[in-house]
Amino acid sequence: MSMNLSEKQHEETKCPHCKKEVTVGFKIEDKEAVSYDVREMGNEVEYSFVSEVECPLCSKEFEIEGSVWIYPEEVINLIQIR
Ligand SMILES: [Zn+2]
Repeated sequence: MSMNLSEKQHEETKCPHCKKEVTVGFKIEDKEAVSYDVREMGNEVEYSFVSEVECPLCSKEFEIEGSVWIYPEEVINLIQIR
């Protein structure tokens, strides 16, 4: 399953306010390349990112930090929330 980078992403994380496991929606806009891997269709790039999300249960905002692997260009292979 691959997703386009410009689409809204949905990941599970723990809300720091109500301490519940929630699925949050966010866009990856503020990202920074941390490593490259050369593959046959170009570079696979790992980025770290920080996104502001809103908890669907308590409506409070918090930041999530994670890594995203993009390959080929603009296609998300994997997202990991820290
Ligand atoms: Zn919450």
